[in-house]
Amino acid sequence: MSKVETLRGPVDTTALGKVLIHEHIFLMDMEYTYNYRPDFFEDQTIADAAARLNALKASGVDTIIDLTVLGLGRHVPSLAKVAPLTDLNIVISTGAYTFDAVPGPFAFHGPGLLLDGPEPMVDLFVRDITEGVGGTALKAGELKCAIDMQGLRPGVERIMRAVARANVLTGVPITVHTTPQAETGLIAQRVLSEEGVNLEDVTIGHCGDSKDIDYLMRLADKGSLLGMDRFGVEFAITMEERVATIAEMVRRGYVGSLALSHDCCAWSDFFPKVSDYHAAMPRHHYLHIHDDVIPALREADLSERDLDTMFIDNPRRHFESAARHFSER
Ligand SMILES: [Zn+2]
Repeated sequence: MSKVETLRGPVDTTALGKVLIHEHIFLMDMEYTYNYRPDFFEDQTIADAAARLNALKASGVDTIIDLTVLGLGRHVPSLAKVAPLTDLNIVISTGAYTFDAVPGPFAFHGPGLLLDGPEPMVDLFVRDITEGVGGTALKAGELKCAIDMQGLRPGVERIMRAVARANVLTGVPITVHTTPQAETGLIAQRVLSEEGVNLEDVTIGHCGDSKDIDYLMRLADKGSLLGMDRFGVEFAITMEERVATIAEMVRRGYVGSLALSHDCCAWSDFFPKVSDYHAAMPRHHYLHIHDDVIPALREADLSERDLDTMFIDNPRRHFESAARHFSER
């Protein structure tokens, strides 16, 4: 047993219950939102998010990992307003999300740059974990970085290595946004292990976008958790295909390597109005797994034990192994 930081304070891993491993609450370009989306700052946005999270809790989910970091519009003051309105455990994250260059504030500052010095991101990520985010006492419980079609661009690599070092310094686990089309999960595993990360501390995100069982087994065989985490995103791959891949992985003995989620949000500025998002992607909401995916998994012969392994045991182990590897260092 170990503790995981949430918006309601530290929670025992044994009390995390059923976990959705990759979600968001608010997802935005913060600068755009400040300038053009006054509706985000209305009380209604907070109330709507809380209502959606409470419906999720009522459906039997106890915890979500919110993977909104720098580059995705993390806004902890708003999360702090949502937290008291829901009983759901919300784990927040630190790290940065880019497919190419580092965020502007890091462009000239760091090893070998105009203002030469140690990597500033490491200290910022560690402070988010050990002291709290942005002067609040709300601590991050997960690290996040990304690698997409562009591959290991210099900015992507710099962030990934900073995230890795923060994991080694704190024992907080990592989720990586990857793209299976370019097999970037394998690149992430290589870079993270070069920095001393135990790959059992890592969730390879967006594995569920792939039907390539061989690729998924290669990632899982290195000990990482696979994020089957975009249920409701249906432009490239359907729910039925996502479910069939999970069923095949379970049949091959990989139930201990899978965790599920939607990667959805309550509010985003990706569409002119929030109602446009919900209309454009009607199944991309917090209840899709409960309403549609779990019945389909049962139909595909997964047992209740399999479901508990994927929703309860595997996310718990993700946090516990990271804490254990840290204590053994
Ligand atoms: Zn995401």
